[in-house]
Amino acid sequence: MTTPETIRCWRCQSEVPVALLCSRCGAVQPLPTDLDYFRVLGVERNPALDESALSSRYYELSRRLHPDLYQTASAQEREASLHNSAIINRAYRTLRDPAQRGVYWLELHGEKLGANNNRVPPQLASLVFAVQEQLEELRDARRAGKQAEVDNALSQLRTQLEEQRAQTQAALTRNFSRWHDDSPETSALLAELKSVLSELAYLRTLLRDVEKENEVSWNA
Ligand SMILES: [Zn+2]
Repeated sequence: MTTPETIRCWRCQSEVPVALLCSRCGAVQPLPTDLDYFRVLGVERNPALDESALSSRYYELSRRLHPDLYQTASAQEREASLHNSAIINRAYRTLRDPAQRGVYWLELHGEKLGANNNRVPPQLASLVFAVQEQLEELRDARRAGKQAEVDNALSQLRTQLEEQRAQTQAALTRNFSRWHDDSPETSALLAELKSVLSELAYLRTLLRDVEKENEVSWNA
């Protein structure tokens, strides 16, 4: 992805750096739609970003683009501020969530998480099998009227999966902390990131399955 470093201001016609506001005349500049989300928010381009700095930056930019400030502005400037608000919101939604940030980081490196991510990650295969088997048993137990037993087992299962998810999230954080500009191990880091992210996505699916079973229990 290459985005130009400069842009011609629509108002004063100066060649200025790509930024929210023209550095010459202060007019709002429509940001290029393919601008890297890290640049959109003006934060360091690294997945191990400071989340509280990211939020304060986002709120500061949102305030600057607030529609109230542009009520008397030209149509072009109003439009540019709306355009930028949408881009900033999208960038923030993506970067504030570690899993989404990881997927985006993969995309920036020309990688994808895989079509629907339906394949069970090998490192989770035995867990997935055990969970599915247990859910099957719980359905039988529910049909046999052992509701208390089912509720108890579901809650244990949820705790177990949440622990696993916490460990996987920690692995994601560790991966993020190893990215540096001159990192010699980019392809190994990418492969690991992909595997951690698909594990996280699959754990989300398993937790949803357990949640569904839990709802059936409550409605029974
Ligand atoms: Zn200007």
